[in-house]
Amino acid sequence: MKKGLLIVFSGPSGVGKGTIRKLFFDRPDLNLDFSVSMTTRQPRVGEVDGVDYFFVTEEEFKKSIENDEFLEHAEFVGSYYGTPKAYVEKLRNEGKNVLLEIEVQGALMVREKMPDALTIFIVPPNFEELERRIRGRRSEPEEIILQRLEKANRELKTMGNYKYVVCNDDPQLAADLTALIIKRHIETAQ
Ligand code: 5GP
Repeated sequence: MKKGLLIVFSGPSGVGKGTIRKLFFDRPDLNLDFSVSMTTRQPRVGEVDGVDYFFVTEEEFKKSIENDEFLEHAEFVGSYYGTPKAYVEKLRNEGKNVLLEIEVQGALMVREKMPDALTIFIVPPNFEELERRIRGRRSEPEEIILQRLEKANRELKTMGNYKYVVCNDDPQLAADLTALIIKRHIETAQ
């Protein structure tokens, strides 16, 4: 069986990665699976442990680093995030194309370890729209929102590290374009 692709789906916080992903994820021709990350941040309202993230303590997270359990991990605005390695490999060996929805430091780590990974970066139509989306969540204190905005500004400058950049002006169009890119890579992978 052909090993599945590793797809890095990245972009600044608030750009709409999750919304876009949900619009293309279930297409049967893409044969996708999602890597659930581990994080030390608090769950937002509606988030489910084991579905959105594995919510863990800092101690548990550090233990996983020591045990070399992550494909990549990064610190983001005071919390840690990481991709459990074993699960990703298991899915890829079963022929699934695995999507990692991660921030830019982690994406860079994956690119170094796995140059064949398909890397896609989502950009907002402009920064004002990104700020509106980050503020629209209303789930975080102003201090964290400002940190996320500052971080987003720096993250946008890394788009040159990705194979593809897709603008999220219209989420359905961004999802269709992303699906097209993935489809093309599935077809051309040996
Ligand atoms: P949020 O707190 O908004 O859920 O996530 C913050 C940022 O961390 C987002 O850009 C999200 O894509 C990213 N992220 C989620 N899981 C991981 C992971 O396992 N590794 C890395 N490096 N980033 C992650």
